[in-house]
Amino acid sequence: MSAVLSIDQGTTGTTALVLSGDGRVLSRAYSEFTQHYPQPGWVEHDAEELWKVTIRVAKDAVERAGEVPTAVGITNQRETVVAWDRTTGAPVHRALVWQDRRTAERCRQLQTELGDDFIAARTGLVWDPYFSATKIEWLLREVPDLRHKVESGDVAFGTIDSWLIHRLTGGAVHVTDHTNASRTLLYDIRRQRWDDELLAVFGVPVQSLPEIKNSSEVVGTTSGDVLGHEIPIAGNAGDQQAALFGQGCVEAGSAKCTYGTGAFLLMQIGTTLDEEPTRTGVLTTVSCDAEGRPAYALEGSVFIAGAAIQWLRDGLGLLETAPESEGLARSVESTGGVYFVPALVGLGAPYWEAEARGTIVGLTRGTERAHLVRAALESMAFSTREVLEAMVSASGVRLTELKVDGGASANDWLMQYQADLLGVRLSRPDVIETTALGAAGLAGLATGIWADVGAFTATRHYHSFEHDTTREADFEGWKRAVNAALHWAGSQ
Ligand code: ADP
Repeated sequence: MSAVLSIDQGTTGTTALVLSGDGRVLSRAYSEFTQHYPQPGWVEHDAEELWKVTIRVAKDAVERAGEVPTAVGITNQRETVVAWDRTTGAPVHRALVWQDRRTAERCRQLQTELGDDFIAARTGLVWDPYFSATKIEWLLREVPDLRHKVESGDVAFGTIDSWLIHRLTGGAVHVTDHTNASRTLLYDIRRQRWDDELLAVFGVPVQSLPEIKNSSEVVGTTSGDVLGHEIPIAGNAGDQQAALFGQGCVEAGSAKCTYGTGAFLLMQIGTTLDEEPTRTGVLTTVSCDAEGRPAYALEGSVFIAGAAIQWLRDGLGLLETAPESEGLARSVESTGGVYFVPALVGLGAPYWEAEARGTIVGLTRGTERAHLVRAALESMAFSTREVLEAMVSASGVRLTELKVDGGASANDWLMQYQADLLGVRLSRPDVIETTALGAAGLAGLATGIWADVGAFTATRHYHSFEHDTTREADFEGWKRAVNAALHWAGSQ
């Protein structure tokens, strides 16, 4: 019997699970690691700690599975940058995390100098510190002697996947995959390779970057000294693209939404791109087709989704636990006209307004805790609808079904409200760790454990939520509330 070790290296922790060929999760292990906030808006991870935590949970999962996996799949927090010494394997600085805003000013400058079309046409992305290139530029400028070491070939750059594969192979391999590369601002999304002009803009020597491989392909072998076994590393994709694949969304027009801290909606749009950039507030990114080769997806990120519930719980003390929100939402007929725009860290897609802040409107003497909690849940559904509308206008594709996952997708009331608001069926799988499943699927396809993506998803069971009413009046009110938040930010 064959099995796959899947490593999901996330922003707050690493999960490892071993999946059997017949789709059962044989074992799981998880550990958090330290977040570093050296200045307001800066977020760093100690890449050495991140590696130690990852290899520990990977070994744990393999031991508990009681069987040696025949392939390894990796999925990771995207955009985060590591620089390391090629000889010693030691990081030369802490990793700069995707959430880090230190290069915001530099992004505004580049936007003014080069314009939005310049970056959208080449990369499918926008000028935002979220992506990797301005972080690499910052390291090259601030770390003493780094430029010299990079030019002489002594130091390598990579996203977290590259860093883990480098260490897992005992330093033998420096690779990434197309999905991760497409988040760097250095990757030509049409030609599917590093872009010379962008490398020049950011001053990044191409020899410091990893070779780009397919997401489902053997790229190296784990070193026996490191993991205790020599196993081919055969799957690699950024977390959201892995989740899309893990949900079996490989055909154009299929889509999934992950409701975690934030909400991430991805929709497959095929294997070719129109000449014009989309420019509707959503990103174009590389995803995986049925064979794990590069395809394209639209992506919309909502920064605060489940985190709005977390804030009501931890910031305001209105809830003991997140699941309690479901009963409270059901206990009232409506929010009584209350809207909560949880722009606690600005607004992401489709607005990209960094200065927006959280706004609660429509309060009356009759407003109770349940109304506010319900308004927070509704905000996740409204934000998702706005992102989906932007995608439909960019792609012309109308959805009939949306696959859902992530912690907040466990809330049945929210899922029903979302189905009603979108007018589409929502389908939630029994195993919601779709990110780790996706990486396992990519690795299993490359090594013959599964013949195709259908064989890989065959054992999955789904619970469906059918739409049975409309929520148009609620949505109109939400748009007015968002306008109030944008107005407050001075952008309307
Ligand atoms: P992440 O991977 O981003 O850390 P998870 O997928 O683990 O997030 O989901 C956790 C988030 O989901 C938290 O923000 C939490 O508030 C929210 N959440 C968890 N359960 C529920 C629930 N039943 N209803 C609403 N929100 C929930």
